[in-house]
Amino acid sequence: MARKESDMKILVVEDEKKVASFIKRGLEEEKYEVVTIHDGEEGLATASEKSFDLIILDVMLPKMDGVTIMKELRARKVLTPVLMLTAKNEVEDIVAGLDSGSDDYLTKPFAFAELLARVRALLRRSEFDRGAEIRFADLRLDPVTHKVWRAEKEIDLTAKEYALLEYLVRNPNQVLTRTMIAEHVWDYTFDSFTNIIDVYVNYLRKKIDREAEKKLIHTVRGVGYILRDEE
Ligand code: CA
Repeated sequence: MARKESDMKILVVEDEKKVASFIKRGLEEEKYEVVTIHDGEEGLATASEKSFDLIILDVMLPKMDGVTIMKELRARKVLTPVLMLTAKNEVEDIVAGLDSGSDDYLTKPFAFAELLARVRALLRRSEFDRGAEIRFADLRLDPVTHKVWRAEKEIDLTAKEYALLEYLVRNPNQVLTRTMIAEHVWDYTFDSFTNIIDVYVNYLRKKIDREAEKKLIHTVRGVGYILRDEE
């Protein structure tokens, strides 16, 4: 099922404030949720700590350039689609950007309609990928039937347990706070009883990890959880 624009979060890392607010305004008119950041270091931190459906990343940025951010994100296994913005004639940037794992690029100046077309295409593509089987370590998830296997053994999960596991598997190797989990899996924030998250994680652990030699779900004390393929 296709998601609504209002469910999609886009991160824009662009130091030229005029360009950043032009993009933000336009995307918000299309009902997307937009976060803008104006320097490279903060851009990398935000892109790795929070989860987005798409990142629009300028190449020339203060503190850290877009190509370095891109490489760092992919090294951290953040697989969010990235649309890079480059100035005209920066062919080397474009090549470096695509080599570093960005999904598409757009040269400045551009018309908003063109940006929007690229954004939609990238979001559609990742939406389509959502239908494909997802794997992490010896876990396998089928997002269509919600069937789950660990080491080829089928595991029976409730709908909520499945949603929680799918969120973990789509965001591996990053710390997911209870707030992030609540927003993505329950669609709202539990202010007063975040321990419902802990309860569900424990259900999931019993089914996924208890009989396995290697545990995949790890607690980050005081923060949340991380799915990791190592102790
Ligand atoms: Ca710039």
